[in-house]
Formats: sequence, C-alpha cells, structure tokens
Amino acid sequence: MAAAVELSSRGIPVTVFESAKQLGGRARSVLHNDTQLDNGQHLLLGCYRETLRLIKLVGGNEEQDFLRLPLQLDLHGHFALKAPRLPAPLHLLVALLKAHGLTWNERMKSVRFMLALRGMDFRLPRDMTASELLAQHGQDSDLAFKLWEPLCIAALNTPLHKASAQVLLNVLRDALNRTRADSDMLLPRLDFTSLFPQRAADYIEQHGGRVHTSCGVEAIVPRDEAIELVTGQGTHTFSHVICAAPPVVAAKLLRPIAALENSAALIDKLEHQPIYTVYLQYPAHVTLPHPMLGLHRRFSQWLFDKGRIAAQPGLLASVISAEGLHQELSQEELAQRVIAELKEEFGIAETPEWFKVIAEKRATFCCAPGLQRPAQQTALVNLLLAGDYTAGDYPATLEGAVISGVRCARMCLPGRK
Ligand SMILES: Cc1cc2nc3c(=O)[nH]c(=O)nc-3n(C[C@H](O)[C@H](O)[C@H](O)COP(=O)(O)OP(=O)(O)OC[C@H]3O[C@@H](n4cnc5c(N)ncnc54)[C@H](O)[C@@H]3O)c2cc1C
Repeated sequence: MAAAVELSSRGIPVTVFESAKQLGGRARSVLHNDTQLDNGQHLLLGCYRETLRLIKLVGGNEEQDFLRLPLQLDLHGHFALKAPRLPAPLHLLVALLKAHGLTWNERMKSVRFMLALRGMDFRLPRDMTASELLAQHGQDSDLAFKLWEPLCIAALNTPLHKASAQVLLNVLRDALNRTRADSDMLLPRLDFTSLFPQRAADYIEQHGGRVHTSCGVEAIVPRDEAIELVTGQGTHTFSHVICAAPPVVAAKLLRPIAALENSAALIDKLEHQPIYTVYLQYPAHVTLPHPMLGLHRRFSQWLFDKGRIAAQPGLLASVISAEGLHQELSQEELAQRVIAELKEEFGIAETPEWFKVIAEKRATFCCAPGLQRPAQQTALVNLLLAGDYTAGDYPATLEGAVISGVRCARMCLPGRK
C-alpha cells in the first residue's frame, strides 16, 4: 500500500491485488464478538518518518490517531525507565542514570555502553549476536534481562542470542540518538486497517487507481517488455509489477521465473519468529496502571490497556513476542496463564467475558546477524520486491516495510532504473 500510495502521489495510477478480504496484511484489524481487534498490537516510534508521512498524506492526523508517550520501559515493580523532556541523547542518558531496578554500577555500565555506541557511530566492523555485543560491553545478566532483552525483542522480535547486533544498533541509532521525539512511542487510537490501508485505498482510487480485495495473484509471467499477473479474476498486463506479498508467498510466485532463482533462494533461507496476542475482555471498569507496561519473567511481556489507548474499556491485550515456552501451551492454557498473571500482578480478580488468542507463527523474519535479504530490484528490471523482509537497515517493522515500498515505487518512475 505504501508503494501504491507513493506512485499515486506522483500521478501514476496503480492497481492493487490483495488476496485477503481485509486490507492491512500483518497489520490489519479483525472483528471478534463485535469488537475490532488488531491482528497484533502495533507500536510506532517517533523515528518512523516514512510511515508517519504516508499516514498524513492519505488523510491521517498524528495527534488524533495516536496516543504519544515519551520513551518509557516499565516492568511493573522490577524496572522503570522514563525519558525526561531533555534534548537527545541527554534524555536517554539521564533516563538510564535514574532507572529504577538497577544498581548504580549497572546504570553506569549502561551509560558507558550508550556512549561507546555513539563513539562507534552505531556501526560494528562485523555483525554478531546482540548477546555477544552486550557481553563485550559488560552488560551482564540483570541489565540484559531488564533493559536490553525487552528492547531487543520489542524491536527485532528475535531473542538476544539470535538477534543481529547491527540491526539492533540501527534501531537504537534512529530512535535514541537524533531528536527526543524520535524515541516517543505512538500507540494507535484506532484500528490498524482504518489507520492506514483503508485510507490508502481511498487515496489510490481518488488518484485513478483500483484496489481489488479477495483477489490474490496466482502467477507472475514476464512477457517481453511487460508482466502478466494471473489472478482468480483473469489475466492482467502491466508495465511494472511490485510484489509485496509476504516472504513465503513471494518465493512461491518468483520460483517459476528462471531469472529470479536467486531472489527466491534468498527468501527461502529466511527463518521466522512468532508473536502471540492474548485479548481479554474484562468488565469496563477494569484498567491497568498505565496504557502500556511490561512484566518481568512472566509469559506476558507487554500489556496494553485498550480502554486507555483506544476507548475500548475493559479490553486488555497481552503480547508475547519471539519463540518461547508459550508455544507449547494450548490457547486456553495460555489465556489462563495470562489471567492468573493479571490477578497476581494487579489484583484483577474478575473473570473476562471472553478471550481471543491470535497466534501469528510467522509474524516476522528472524533477524539474525549478517542476514542476506533480497534487494528490491530483481533481475527483471520491471519486477520489484517490497516488504519488511527485503534489504534494508530495519528489522521486520512497519517502517521497514514502508521504506521498502516507497523505494520500489521510486524505482518504477519514468527515467529511473
Ligand atoms: C502480531 C504482530 C505484531 C507486530 N507489531 C509490530 C509493531 O509493534 N511495530 C512494527 O513496526 N511492526 C510490528 N509488526 C511487524 C509489521 O506488522 C510487519 O513488519 C509489516 O506489517 C509487514 O508489512 P508487509 O507489507 O511487508 O507484509 P504483510 O503485512 O504481510 O503484507 C503482505 C500482503 O500480501 C497479501 N498477499 C498474500 N498473498 C498474496 C497474493 N498471492 N496475492 C495478493 N496479495 C497477497 C497479504 O494478504 C498481505 O495483505 C508486527 C507484526 C505482527 C504479526
């Protein structure tokens, strides 16, 4: 949708084929018990400049669409860090020095680490796992558990021992090191399909394009200078095609094209990490102390109070990112664990009216060190690949997907290669 909006804004009408009934892909909303839920909680950072630019372009209003919070990490009673209103990177250094739940020595180590990263311009001579980098800089167990692991899992959806240190540094560089607003956390007040893809679809159609839902692409067939797309509703010919399907589908569509063997092979090598979201509808008076907070050494890593964020009173969401023991539980067992945690941590004794577990087994690619990701430009000049998994600085995030889409769009412009 980012690619299509970017092209539409430059006067090029675009046809979008979406296999699902609903727009938005992994960042879509779903209806359950008359309640609009997101496929998973999505948090944006202030540094997501391209995503925020496009949301604005299609008619969004940042102030109304998001609850904006200064950077904070609150692991309910075990750790708390909140960035004061100071210029970057002072806001972070002061936040680290004043963090609750760490010894003075640990706080100093974390500050020295951040200063060392700045000194290196957030660039490593060779990639390594985040665990290796933390060990090299004396960020030992409590510091890693309370600060770096939650940050790494939230940003890369990959555990420290498997995560690319360089990609983690890319996120830290952009979020923590430029302006204070870059590190702000933006929680959407409206459902995700309404936030961007639905507005984007309207924008694309107002600019002469078409958006077809429930119309998946079954094959991509290069023909001379053009490309044919075979869909359930017929065959369509285009000058350029941007394949923005998720990696598994993209590999399936590219594999039959001899020239694209290399791109398909790179995609096949990607491994994936899950994200589970457990929604619990409690009576309307049930709330959490903050709109978003973390738990330490619990199944629930992050909790979101949708009443405080999106005017959905009593609706709580527990997010469990990356691989872990939770995958061995049934959905009922997992929901019961989360209910027990909410009771133990916050004294919530009420029984939820319903729960819904959304298990995205392939939520993101596993962001491993030195990972080779396919370029947006394929071996065919008029066939491009867009998506969070394509080459870029970012892990699998909305901003990574949007930057990739915008880059593809610009490559399709007349006179550009
Ligand atoms: C639970 C969860 C929580 C997340 N939380 C965050 C977060 O807090 N912050 C953040 O930045 N990122 C988050 N992410 C990651 C973010 O959602 C993704 O990086 C982003 O949505 C990827 O976008 P994409 O366009 O690359 O792929 P997708 O969103 O997967 O889009 C691909 C689209 O292609 C469609 N499609 C598939 N096959 C075909 C076909 N044959 N023909 C036509 N269309 C097809 C799909 O239906 C889908 O709409 C989260 C992801 C999940 C799953």
